[in-house]
Amino acid sequence: MYKLTKRKKVMRGHPKVIREINRKNIIEALRQSAPLSRTELAKKVHLSLPSVSRIINALLEEGVLLEVGKGDSRGGRKPTLLEFNPHHRFVFGVDVSREITVVLCDLQGTIVERRKIPVSPSFGPQNVVETVLREIESIKQYTEIPENRVVGLGVSTPGFLFKATRMVESSPFAGWESADVETLFVSRSPYPVTIDNVARASAMAEILYGWGSAFHSFFYFYLDWGTGGGVVYRGKIVRGLSGSCGEVGHSTIDPEGVLCYCGNRGCLEQYTSTAALLRNLKREMGEEMDFAEMISRYREGDPVVVNVLRRAGYFLGKGIANIINILNPQAVVLGGELGRLFPLYVEEAIASARENIFSLSAQETPIVVSRVGKEEVVLAVAQMVLARYLEEIG
Ligand SMILES: [Zn+2]
Repeated sequence: MYKLTKRKKVMRGHPKVIREINRKNIIEALRQSAPLSRTELAKKVHLSLPSVSRIINALLEEGVLLEVGKGDSRGGRKPTLLEFNPHHRFVFGVDVSREITVVLCDLQGTIVERRKIPVSPSFGPQNVVETVLREIESIKQYTEIPENRVVGLGVSTPGFLFKATRMVESSPFAGWESADVETLFVSRSPYPVTIDNVARASAMAEILYGWGSAFHSFFYFYLDWGTGGGVVYRGKIVRGLSGSCGEVGHSTIDPEGVLCYCGNRGCLEQYTSTAALLRNLKREMGEEMDFAEMISRYREGDPVVVNVLRRAGYFLGKGIANIINILNPQAVVLGGELGRLFPLYVEEAIASARENIFSLSAQETPIVVSRVGKEEVVLAVAQMVLARYLEEIG
């Protein structure tokens, strides 16, 4: 009953099923390239114009889509363009890192409201969850968004379950190592929750807004308060059997090294994270130094800070070389705060990595600094929720 263009094989199946597949394809095409005209859509999904129009009309009626402005045309009447109606649904995005960021996004993924709260993960998951939910309530009241328009909450957290049963000294994630953060959020949130580890969420941001446009498969290093990572293969995050794929921060680089809060010794994170840098600075200087001071001393060229960073870069390089040796990825992307703030650290890491990449051709693997910041990470978790919603209505 549907006219199919000659480029596609005629699909045989129940008309209802076919209609659902077509609707999904149209939504997906709009997600990737909105705004589009009906004709452009028909071409993209290989359907006739009347079939596309029928589905579009339903989506317009449901309020999912909007007709906007006029597109280009080569002579004749300019076509009407279609895009998602930004006010049809909303989603909250939350990033828990050195501070908490909460954003409200519309259906087009644009940030409507943004809040930063100076609460760090060291406050513990219970406090963090309560703070986040209070902020969400406050944003809802401020923006006067009806309850039924919020489709969910996307969260990036440092939380994961470790084998260590008791807290090891100076964990930057005190309280997170044994907490089931997902259950905590899910049981308290009034909306469906999509939760991801901050390293994987950052890798997702890189796919959507950063190097993802240049490389479809790469390894992402998250260099921040902790050290983490993510394997990106053909534009998607590889999760592994239980979701810990890419957890490079807890790979052993010195079996007799520093005791880690995860329960192992000599984990890469213990030599390369912000927490490790500050601990080493304290040991060198005999006094505590906070991160802001570390940044300003680095900019002044303080030799102690420079040395500590070089040493950390040396260890990071070994971690990078291991990854390149095992995965032979298209590229390695260095993200997180440390990658952005300390070019010297990155430079040292690259030099150190080159020493240990065994394959001549893999020596050429590009090692680049991330193109995205915290803003994109929180947008990426919001996008995960929006993607799920659009899949459900498709
Ligand atoms: Zn560890």
